[in-house]
Amino acid sequence: MKGKQLILVVDDVTVNRRILTRILKADGFDTVEADNGKAALEILQSGSKPIALILLDITMPVMNGYELLEKMNSLGLLPIIPVIVTTGSDDENAEVRSLECGATDFLVKPYKPDIVCHRVRSILRLCDNAALIGKLEIDRLTGLYSREFFYRHAQEILDANPNEKYDVLCSNIVNFKIINAKYGIHIGDELLKSIAKHDMECVGETGVCGRIGADTFVALRRRIPPRSQEEIGKQHAQNYKNAPIKNFVMQYGLYPVDDRSMPISDMCDCAQLALATIKHKYGVYYAVYDDSMRQSFLREHQLSEHLEQALAEKQFVVYLQPKHDTNTACIAGAEALVRWVHPELGFISPGEFIPLFERTGFISKLDRYVWEEVCIVLSRWIKEDKPLIPISVNASRADFDESDLIEFISGLTEKYGIPPELLHIEVTESAYTDNPKKIISAITTLRDMGFLIEMDDFGSGYSSLNMLSELPIDMLKLDMRFVQKGNDLAQTNNRSILGFIVSLSKWLQLPTIAEGVETEEDMELLKSMGCNYIQGYYFAKPMPIADFEAYMDKCMSKAPAESSAKHKTRRAPDDESQNGKPLVLVAEDIEGNRELLIDMLSDDYRVLSACNGQEAHEEIAKHRGELSCVLLDLLMPVMEGFQLIDLMKSEGTLEEIPVIITSEAGRDGELRAIHLGADGFVSKPYNAEVVEYYVRKAVNEREYRRIKKASHKG
Ligand code: C2E
Ligand code: CA
Ligand code: CA
Repeated sequence: MKGKQLILVVDDVTVNRRILTRILKADGFDTVEADNGKAALEILQSGSKPIALILLDITMPVMNGYELLEKMNSLGLLPIIPVIVTTGSDDENAEVRSLECGATDFLVKPYKPDIVCHRVRSILRLCDNAALIGKLEIDRLTGLYSREFFYRHAQEILDANPNEKYDVLCSNIVNFKIINAKYGIHIGDELLKSIAKHDMECVGETGVCGRIGADTFVALRRRIPPRSQEEIGKQHAQNYKNAPIKNFVMQYGLYPVDDRSMPISDMCDCAQLALATIKHKYGVYYAVYDDSMRQSFLREHQLSEHLEQALAEKQFVVYLQPKHDTNTACIAGAEALVRWVHPELGFISPGEFIPLFERTGFISKLDRYVWEEVCIVLSRWIKEDKPLIPISVNASRADFDESDLIEFISGLTEKYGIPPELLHIEVTESAYTDNPKKIISAITTLRDMGFLIEMDDFGSGYSSLNMLSELPIDMLKLDMRFVQKGNDLAQTNNRSILGFIVSLSKWLQLPTIAEGVETEEDMELLKSMGCNYIQGYYFAKPMPIADFEAYMDKCMSKAPAESSAKHKTRRAPDDESQNGKPLVLVAEDIEGNRELLIDMLSDDYRVLSACNGQEAHEEIAKHRGELSCVLLDLLMPVMEGFQLIDLMKSEGTLEEIPVIITSEAGRDGELRAIHLGADGFVSKPYNAEVVEYYVRKAVNEREYRRIKKASHKG
């Protein structure tokens, strides 16, 4: 008689483990417990006790459930030991994602003893059946041949018909696990049976078919003329009109048998490879094998190995590419772009490995690594008193599936003491359209915390105007293709599309950045259209951090005109010839911007400058009586403009001295300025007339306040 089967219960919450253990023991199982994925893995690897099934919580410290599934997968344990994931009742995504990661089923908390036992028993029964499939000639459920016997019969057919043309077909039900979970295992079984029946009818007497996995079928079939995706899609409904459910999809990989010397098992592998290339592709029903698939499969396999090690060994290197202000040509920011320096394969471009990591889920780990590297750079710049510019990092769709995204990012900026405004987050347009609710809510929170959000690849997706005006974004980054359309940007068509997009963003009051700008003509054209920032080879390619720092030093040193000292005014405010002119203070951290404002004002005003809130505060204290207005950037290191305004309020200087906010033009910048009690708002890029207008107004306002105060006293 069989001994008691052993179930591994993995959950960090003791009470949950206790409940499950009690339920399972009462039903005749033995249990062993682990309080995180790592502990569970140790139990599995020790191999001392044969585990029949795992009940796995997803959210756990040290190693979470997804990570354990990943590990089990890479160790080849997943097909052997079934895993039931336990999730909260409100987390449908976790269910889908864990099934995609290889879990067999899921259970929703709070646990109902009957359901837990029923699920565990039926899955164990299913596994017993599956184990049997390999041993029997005929699969008991469907009546098809099992793997080895399919190979044998297929070989016989090929040998007996040397002049016939054949194809090997491998097929799979899309999201079968979800169908099983949704309709129950019984309906799932019925579906498998009806597919098997159809397959047998299809190959007829001249071919053979088999089942080689839960929902994976193979067939050797006489070659028929190729059909279009559309025809196959249409045929599907017809083929399965008697199936127990209607809304399911099959995908096929096809290997044309031209080289008969190849073992049948390899032919099936090739058909499976072809099938794998269309997994997750909506509306695509079949793919035909060609040799490039094997090449890219091997390459992907190579790239997917030892990723943790690659991270630990710092094989991933962050490059920075500058973003320049279109008007001043000054450096205004940078984008962090990752490269992979592989010990054997050499330099690999993100264009190759990012899409792969996006599919396998490793991207979230890599992104977090890049974000942290960027924070380390920024914190060093702060310490070394370097000019500070924001750095943008890329966020992938998958990053938004992690429940601790917000905590992670804010944790980083806290750990490294970085004002959130220095970290811009680029989110690609299509991510917004894919999962609007989730993304919008995460991004809104991040923005509220002070991070700036850039919509990447704008124009490549399908955001509606309606949606755009409601999205929480601070900047639009034009899709590179608009700029790059074969370098014929000057062509009327492209020009008008580009112009339209730039004016659309103006209308939305969002600054724009164009990337992929390679030539002076493109740059001039974009400038004339009013595009605010430029990123592209025209200025510089992405470069290692040390090179970028040298580049930045060079840019800063030749920033506008002859100014030398880091934050000195063009003309000393106490210069004799300046007497009688009103005194204004420019508080702005980015040197290029500061210099520009000083330039615009120094003919008519005496200008003081400060490169952070604290310096500005000192200047205000020193010149309280004579200062006519302050131009204040909200986003600065050391002390932000926001904090300075609060301080001025509490010290009573805000009542006396008008403040003009000069912040980055987010859509609600002006509104925020009003709420803060500021007297004006000018957005970047600065327009000299607008700046002069507000400063003149503010200086008059200051005079008015002074006179009023004096007359009250009098
Ligand atoms: P992206 O975010 O749209 O980045 C811009 C890409 O355009 C970069 O390619 C950059 O090197 C390239 N580029 C910039 N200026 C020019 C130019 O003037 N001409 C041309 N021909 N290309 C230019 P890269 O570095 O190869 O990155 C490709 C994509 O990989 C990125 O597109 C981004 O989607 C992804 N990626 C790169 N690093 C990361 C990362 O750390 N995390 C994530 N999630 N994705 C990343
Ligand atoms: Ca980007
Ligand atoms: Ca982009």
